[in-house]
Amino acid sequence: MKHSRQKRLQTVGLVTGALAAVWCLWYFLYTRFGIELLHCPVHSLTGLYCPGCGTMRAIVALLQLQPHQAIRYNVLTTLTLPFLALYLALHILSYIRRGHGLAPGRFDKWIAIGYIVLAVAFGIMRNLPWFAFLAPTGIL
Ligand SMILES: [Zn+2]
Repeated sequence: MKHSRQKRLQTVGLVTGALAAVWCLWYFLYTRFGIELLHCPVHSLTGLYCPGCGTMRAIVALLQLQPHQAIRYNVLTTLTLPFLALYLALHILSYIRRGHGLAPGRFDKWIAIGYIVLAVAFGIMRNLPWFAFLAPTGIL
């Protein structure tokens, strides 16, 4: 059974509100008490930085209007986050309007493959001494 537009809008609002509440709780614990709820298992086990290391700190830095700090934590996340947010927003709008996300485009597969290749290359490079500046660090 297909839901009405009103029902889909309520669903999106409910999910968005729940995610925002969890995010606010995490943000409060992190910024107020320095509690990190998510530790990278790759870094914890190996000491190496994965492509996602520094992502949460980068997002917090962006929310605090410190883009230069966000880039130092994770340049890949910082530069691709706006495109990811736009892509997600377009899917959500399509879901609200038509009851399903955007149909896969002609280049979606290649964009996904390209992003994965970029992420893997970034993950390798940030652990090499020549590209140490890609490792997540604080500059403030
Ligand atoms: Zn990591």
